[in-house]
Amino acid sequence: MTIITLSLPCSNLSFLSSSKQFRFHPKSSTQLSPTPSSPLQTPSPPKTGVVIIGAGLAGLAAANHLNSNNIPFLLLEASDAVGGRVRTDIVDGFLLDRGFQIFITAYPEAQKLLNYESLNLQKFYSGARIFYDGQFYTVADPLRHFWDSAKSLTNPIGSLLDKLLIGSTRIRALSKSDEEIISAEEVPTIDLLKKLGFSDSIIGKFFRPFFGGIFFDPELQTTSRLFDFIFKCLALGDNTLPANGISAIPEQLAARLPSGSILLNAKAVSVDLDNSETPRVRLQNGEVLRSELGVIVAVEEPAAVQLLAGRSGPVPKKPARSTVCVYFSANRDEIPVREPVLFLNGSGKGIVNNMFFATNVAPSYGPAHKSLVSVSLIGLFEGVSDDELAGRVVEELCGWFGEKTVREWKHLRNYRIEFAQPNQCPPTDLKKNPKLESGLYVCGDYLTSATFDGALVSGRRAAESLLKDRAFAPF
Ligand SMILES: Cc1cc2nc3c(=O)[nH]c(=O)nc-3n(C[C@H](O)[C@H](O)[C@H](O)COP(=O)(O)OP(=O)(O)OC[C@H]3O[C@@H](n4cnc5c(N)ncnc54)[C@H](O)[C@@H]3O)c2cc1C
Repeated sequence: MTIITLSLPCSNLSFLSSSKQFRFHPKSSTQLSPTPSSPLQTPSPPKTGVVIIGAGLAGLAAANHLNSNNIPFLLLEASDAVGGRVRTDIVDGFLLDRGFQIFITAYPEAQKLLNYESLNLQKFYSGARIFYDGQFYTVADPLRHFWDSAKSLTNPIGSLLDKLLIGSTRIRALSKSDEEIISAEEVPTIDLLKKLGFSDSIIGKFFRPFFGGIFFDPELQTTSRLFDFIFKCLALGDNTLPANGISAIPEQLAARLPSGSILLNAKAVSVDLDNSETPRVRLQNGEVLRSELGVIVAVEEPAAVQLLAGRSGPVPKKPARSTVCVYFSANRDEIPVREPVLFLNGSGKGIVNNMFFATNVAPSYGPAHKSLVSVSLIGLFEGVSDDELAGRVVEELCGWFGEKTVREWKHLRNYRIEFAQPNQCPPTDLKKNPKLESGLYVCGDYLTSATFDGALVSGRRAAESLLKDRAFAPF
């Protein structure tokens, strides 16, 4: 690609090929020869094109963008696999996503980047079942489940006006472009809902557990921009799970990258600019990499603050969002429902926020004859042991589905996720500039919206910004 050779800073260009698809095969982290840090030894660190730090969705999106522009890169990941917060473990034949996560098919950036067909997306029911006053009540999308929705008009989850308001809120969200939504005037979601005229009843029984579960924020203090964005995506698309677990999403992005371009178990500990535009990245094992084109830091917000010490702007003061996901196994023929529906706690009591039978949505999430039960709590429950937490969940759900059913469930595992999402209460800036200084760029959900889509957008933007600075692409 001729443009590349014209614009490259002086360095070893051997990894660039004139063919459309480059192949860059860095050695594994353990193979790279350590670079002594003593100035007497005039070190010459291994060179790469762009170094991307962090292989979550943002880092993978940045890598895919560079790759499709034929720009060589090396993607460093501290852990043992790609995906970041979007990972799945296989335990006793069950697919355990690291926390309850839903992929909404209408995410605009995801639509451009992912191959939905090969993700084999399994759909949720478009609505929810709400536990309130000892019973379950359905809230359904009238466009997809008309009769369920009509039947729910008189239930005690909200007034008739509330249910009509859901329709007008949908029109309101659909009438705005994504760009307008993320830069609109903002208030906390709770204030928006009250302003739109929703009653305390529907806010407490539906919006708090539903959107509070999405934002890990039961007070609904999260920006109305995020509420509008998610509401619009929910109106336009389906809630789904990939048949092979949520990690199938980052794995698909990683599979498109050149072999050898991802280095696992490679934690970056510092990024040094040395007054040059070719920053050096030091790894935990002492190795140093020199990037020829720039560094993209694609780590989660707390890790970015540490890694960029002083360079990343003010340290966030608002507490991050945390969650615990508690998994159980059950016999498939003994579960109380067969529908792929999300259950919400509308009672205002207890610790369970939402739960569902994952194998009802995607049978592949468990072995034959077994069901996977996924229960989500908001907060970290520090000081409560895993067993005690599971016991409290069982007690509570006995009140939902009956002792006989729930006492049979076997506890599989808890996932406590301290940093599930950055805090996105107003004031927010969902279009933060990815460029920190020349040669140094950042991406991650804390720069856009705390969603899969926001992470993908931010990764692309960081790569675009770097390419623009290097004059590799016409922007
Ligand atoms: C439980 C849970 C549920 C969620 N549910 C949804 C949902 O339903 N829908 C939705 O849209 N979004 C959801 N999200 C949010 C979504 O997962 C995130 O917004 C998104 O995955 C963030 O991606 P990222 O690339 O910005 O960050 P991350 O995924 O955090 O990736 C950062 C990567 O950087 C690596 N790293 C960190 N430090 C270093 C270092 N020094 N050197 C090398 N590598 C490093 C990390 O190991 C990690 O792999 C959920 C998140 C959680 C935790």
